[in-house]
Amino acid sequence: MTEFDTEVYYDDDADVSTVQDETVAVLGYGSQGHAHAQNLDDSGVDVVVGLRKSSASRQEAETDGLEVATPANAAAAADRVVMLVPDTVQPAVYEDIREGMDAGDTLQFAHGFNIHYGQIEPPEDVDVTMVAPKSPGHLVRRTYKRGEGVPGLLAVYQDATGEAHAEGLAYAKAIGCTRAGVIETSFQEETETDLFGEQAVLCGGVTEMVKAGFETLVDAGYAPEMAYFECLNELKLIVDLMYEGGHMGMWNSVSDTAEYGGLTRGEEVIDREGMQEILEGVQSGEFAREWINENQAHRPAYRQYRGAEQSHQIEQVGDRLRELFAWDEQAEEEVPADD
Ligand code: NAD
Ligand code: MG
Repeated sequence: MTEFDTEVYYDDDADVSTVQDETVAVLGYGSQGHAHAQNLDDSGVDVVVGLRKSSASRQEAETDGLEVATPANAAAAADRVVMLVPDTVQPAVYEDIREGMDAGDTLQFAHGFNIHYGQIEPPEDVDVTMVAPKSPGHLVRRTYKRGEGVPGLLAVYQDATGEAHAEGLAYAKAIGCTRAGVIETSFQEETETDLFGEQAVLCGGVTEMVKAGFETLVDAGYAPEMAYFECLNELKLIVDLMYEGGHMGMWNSVSDTAEYGGLTRGEEVIDREGMQEILEGVQSGEFAREWINENQAHRPAYRQYRGAEQSHQIEQVGDRLRELFAWDEQAEEEVPADD
């Protein structure tokens, strides 16, 4: 078995029966919620989905054969409450369910933001854990049904019962994550690396790099269609190679000219001091405060940034060009859906 620096847990390390003895309230029925609830149900766990009376997801959860209650009633009945509503609404939902958190119950998350930045302060007599699949919900569900699973993270923030770790592993097993491997982390590490990654590399870094490359070519008089293909469309091909074989897999697949040019020029476009500042903003809580305030003010800046992104030339060019790939979508539709 591969050696890792951190602990990695598999099926044999987890005893699913501890969670089969529980009633689990899954709050929210979105990307993660529907997948956790259905996998738990298939694993023989007593599940109740917590949704507001007005929620459009109620019908869906009931159609999927699950019991549905209000978040407050679901939490009151449950030994384990899993927060799978959007991170920005979790503090308000917590106010509705806190009465239902009895001594020895577990409050569980799939992301550490609200605990790490103090937006939810659970009582001392409950366990506080995180089981976070490293994948969107539809894959959590699809892989489970195939007898496989996606890798996951496990963290214990508060261990009131002495059983928090074992029960977290049991839960990870019940949703399929121990089939692939569960990595031990902390709320702090998960939250800070997650925010840094999405800001500096995955979502923020990549889109800014694509826009800057596109604008550089278009401003120099090249066709926007050419700029779109070079800077955005081909990114998927490169990322797929990296995903499959790491950087060396990618370098081995591209031409020597691309490899030499990339190795000698890439560093010029990266601002490592900027990355350091982003990390410091995450670590100090400055980003979290800004985002919490932004939400309290009903997101004025968020709307402005989103509007600018929407009206960027690359979106219009892309909308037109992606129609040329309609055959691609049709081909995918012909593949039978698993869910
Ligand atoms: P989502 O936006 O897909 O779904 C949220 C669901 O919550 C909605 O479908 C709805 O049923 C419910 N909801 C919305 N507003 C509500 C309200 N005001 N009160 C009660 N219920 C409400 O959310 P998600 O992406 O599944 O994220 C859930 C958690 O999982 C978050 O903590 C997120 O950080 C974490 N997470 C997500 C992913 C992912 O790929 N989506 C991966 C790992 C962890
Ligand atoms: Mg309870």
